[in-house]
Amino acid sequence: MRELEERIRREGIVENGDVLKVDAFLNHQMDVGLFAAMGKEWARLFAGEGVNKVLTIEASGIGIACIAAQEFGVPVVFAKKSRTKNIAGDVYKVEVPSFTHGGVSTVIVSKRFLLPTDRLLLIDDFLANGAALEGLIALAEQAGAVVVGAGIAVEKAFQPGGERIRQKGVRVESLARIRSMEAGRIEFC
Ligand code: 5GP
Repeated sequence: MRELEERIRREGIVENGDVLKVDAFLNHQMDVGLFAAMGKEWARLFAGEGVNKVLTIEASGIGIACIAAQEFGVPVVFAKKSRTKNIAGDVYKVEVPSFTHGGVSTVIVSKRFLLPTDRLLLIDDFLANGAALEGLIALAEQAGAVVVGAGIAVEKAFQPGGERIRQKGVRVESLARIRSMEAGRIEFC
């Protein structure tokens, strides 16, 4: 998506070689006009797929997931990073390693909000090694829900997540795919 690529070129900051900061419009300050354009694009791409729910992961996916869900006219569920060790049995849970912070989070969703009848669109801000998306896919599998596909804002195509998840047969639609990046120079696929 041209508009997103231009914002990344103009305002994205490359850190430590493989982390892109997009705090100016996506991860800290949020440009909801841009989010609306992204939501419309996912709604166009996944039209006719019977999406009845959007599933994302705390925290940075929530903003774009909400605006996307509005385009589909469906609710959003966000998988929560749990801080408690003793988790009651009424949740689906999965361990997700964090790309940006290191460490592993236990991520949960209440069984009340993921159903076998669901047709889920997974949404996240970034796709790097694929752990966050694989965590959401695992939660959907536990619920017996169908994953219609994944809408990603920024895929770092030089990292292996996108290829791994597409090889599993999951449709991944990334609005910006970065082929390579270094300070002051970002190339898109
Ligand atoms: P993965 O699990 O695919 O390795 O990484 C995806 C998750 O890590 C996303 O939910 C996102 O929050 C975070 N992430 C990965 N790479 C980046 C990056 O370059 N910049 C930012 N801001 N977040 C990233």
